[in-house]
Amino acid sequence: MKTILASTITLLFVTIMWMPSGFCQNDVRSKALKIHQAVYTIDSHNDTPMGFGESGFDPSIRHDFKEDESCVDFPRMKDGGLDGAFFAVFTGQGPLTNEGRESAYARAKKTFGYIHKTVELHPEMAGIALTPEDGYKLGKQGKVSMFIGLENGYPIGLDISRVSEFYNLGARYITLCHTRNNDICDSSTDRKGALHNGLSEFGKQVVFEMNKLGIMVDVSHISDKSFYDVIELSKTPVIASHSCARALCNNPRNLSDEMLTALAKNGGVIQMCILSGYVKEQEPNPARDSAFSLVQKKYGDWSKLSPETQKLARAEYSEIMKKYPEKLANVTDLVDHIDHIIKIAGIDHIGIGTDFDGGGGLSGCQDVSEMGNITMELVKRGYSKKDIEKIWGGNLFRVMNEVEMFAAKHKK
Ligand SMILES: [Zn+2]
Repeated sequence: MKTILASTITLLFVTIMWMPSGFCQNDVRSKALKIHQAVYTIDSHNDTPMGFGESGFDPSIRHDFKEDESCVDFPRMKDGGLDGAFFAVFTGQGPLTNEGRESAYARAKKTFGYIHKTVELHPEMAGIALTPEDGYKLGKQGKVSMFIGLENGYPIGLDISRVSEFYNLGARYITLCHTRNNDICDSSTDRKGALHNGLSEFGKQVVFEMNKLGIMVDVSHISDKSFYDVIELSKTPVIASHSCARALCNNPRNLSDEMLTALAKNGGVIQMCILSGYVKEQEPNPARDSAFSLVQKKYGDWSKLSPETQKLARAEYSEIMKKYPEKLANVTDLVDHIDHIIKIAGIDHIGIGTDFDGGGGLSGCQDVSEMGNITMELVKRGYSKKDIEKIWGGNLFRVMNEVEMFAAKHKK
């Protein structure tokens, strides 16, 4: 999958990064290393582009999580043996007004621009990937792949032609909504409850258009009713780009066993989110919660803040996290979800989508350089190379190919 030189260098780095924390069996470690290197590894969701452009985060430079709490850059992707990731073009949910929609559209276009600019500036390190084939090709050249997903269909507004516009800019999945309802569908976490009772009429057109073009429908964040509407309507398998199992962590963002069964029947895939609060229910911490909500109130809509103000807000959040440290879930907890999902949905319907730089990170997998620890735990539990290959991207690529093939047929 990679040039021998790149593999050797990465192997060296990975060996250094994977200190035997808790794993004392050398044969397990060396088997995990071998498998992790051999399979194509892909993370279906990070929010790293939020830091691109005017916010000044340069992904070509190695950063340190301990210094700036950033999780992803190209050198650390190499350290962690991660071949590719879906970089999200994210917009927070604002008001359902023309002004709100237009400002989200402008913001999304800017972020697409930043992602493309990044590969223009660092063609020796990374490339844009539109298909699994592109990913493998870039891997052979020793480069990391930047796939693009649109997190939140809000910037589509009410203009269906923007779906193909985003496709042409490289988006290969669209997360239909975020934490609140939008024009497309209801969210799983909107405090006001349902607005459309699932997918709206416009949302149905959006799903139809995505099927037609070859964009994966991402059901993460959407309400249960929206999920079942999508499953019924979509002519191609769907993905949950970053979600966990509700049976193990009761959060509306996670998928119930019934939903997992429906997803498997649909041929889709759930990509395990490694955000601690979705992996393990948090012990209540009212002091921390109220400190967070004060900062939230003070700064309001993140997307409207200037880069300087964003820096200030980030520093305040970081202070709170230091003052009230969260007890993070760990890699064992994460793999418990994987075991459960496989029990319910089967080995062909599971993958990994970290949500790094959007809140993702666990004890033992705090940034992308530590991704190999997941493989280590999988090997420890007896998963085969074939299983691990499916988990680390084989299943996601299968869906991506099916979605692409459906669109190709439709275009004829
Ligand atoms: Zn998200």
